[in-house]
Amino acid sequence: MTASDDSPFGSHRARSILAEAGLQATRQRLAIVDILSGQPPRHVSAEDLFDALQSRGAPGSLSRVYGSLKRFCETGLVRRVPAYGNTVWYEMKGEDHHHFYIEEEDRLLDIPAGMIHLAELPPAPPGYELAGIDVLCRIRRTASEAGPGASRGAQTR
Ligand SMILES: [Zn+2]
Repeated sequence: MTASDDSPFGSHRARSILAEAGLQATRQRLAIVDILSGQPPRHVSAEDLFDALQSRGAPGSLSRVYGSLKRFCETGLVRRVPAYGNTVWYEMKGEDHHHFYIEEEDRLLDIPAGMIHLAELPPAPPGYELAGIDVLCRIRRTASEAGPGASRGAQTR
């Protein structure tokens, strides 16, 4: 075995991300950063994270997961994705981008910011300024691309 900082509770990379954000590296925080910063970039709910942590054997309750996410958002490490539907997603705060929302799968995909051109925006009401723009494009599979479900309704006998 080689000496390494990597453990089931968080990689060396997660450790440096937390250190850079000035956050204490608890086992739970390391595991959360590890999951969120995986490739491809992930959008996960607090419940998804909690399940993933449980399967890694990382300690902590769901309310502690929420606590960690709140702290991560405050420090600018993670952001809450403003999205449609009931799920609240979190992602590592990287480059500005927008999202596709796949309705049937309740899942998000990134859209690079440069791919969306906004022509005109209303001015912010007096006393407010624009803090950011988030575009969410709701998408669904086209009929021809639909998988086995496409034959739904066809009688077999
Ligand atoms: Zn995203």
